[in-house]
Amino acid sequence: MYSNFVPTNLHNQAEALISDLKLLSDKPTECPYCKNTKLYFVNASSGYCRCSVCKRGFNRSLNTPFYRLAPLELLPIIAERRLCGQGYATIRHELNTYTPWVIKRRVRVIEQYMQTHYPELYQWYQPFIEGTQQSIPDNVVQQIQQLKSWVTGILNATTATCPHCDSIHCQKMNDTRRAQFRCKSCWRYFSNLKGTGLEHLGYSENWLTMIDLLADGKNNHEIEQVLKISTGTVTKARRIWLDIMQRQNLLILKEWISSR
Ligand SMILES: [Zn+2]
Ligand SMILES: [Zn+2]
Repeated sequence: MYSNFVPTNLHNQAEALISDLKLLSDKPTECPYCKNTKLYFVNASSGYCRCSVCKRGFNRSLNTPFYRLAPLELLPIIAERRLCGQGYATIRHELNTYTPWVIKRRVRVIEQYMQTHYPELYQWYQPFIEGTQQSIPDNVVQQIQQLKSWVTGILNATTATCPHCDSIHCQKMNDTRRAQFRCKSCWRYFSNLKGTGLEHLGYSENWLTMIDLLADGKNNHEIEQVLKISTGTVTKARRIWLDIMQRQNLLILKEWISSR
């Protein structure tokens, strides 16, 4: 969602930009050549019409910078992704029927349009889109820190409440990696990780590094190289971390990672 990244005072400009682009695929109201209003759709999804009098074909992009940039429904999608800071490679990877050239050309025209019609939005956008290629936005950094301190807190906790008998007299076991405790009242063992989502993850010594790698936009293969764990483990860990971010309500971070 671009509203996570676009500053609040520019939300209406961003919305206006997206709605301008969406409107391009709507049915035109009159023929631009003969002004006749009886038109019929040739292709409803691209808003392409034919005039029933002069028989000429057109859509709303005629006389706009977006002329001949079909499919027009791609334009608002690309614009939204750029406002989230997505690079060409990510956009192309997700819309994988299009060549890099197709995406780049549309991005360029959208940026020119934004600069002309929504100059304040563009003033924010330009340094943002360049910055996101190297650095992580502040609101994402904040959620990374929240997640890390939550994880560290669980791993380093020295006290716990027994899930079996609710006793608070529990002793931490020496193996700190799995946050194991033993209840002094009922003598049962339990882990602090249970119910957090973390119990499904191995290698707790790698957790903080894994969070950084995900936030840096590393792919599974790159993470595998750094942490020296198998592809299957990385794939599973990524899924579990995204799930934990959802549960912890760290939605900006989750979106940031999902769209890298
Ligand atoms: Zn006509
Ligand atoms: Zn107990």
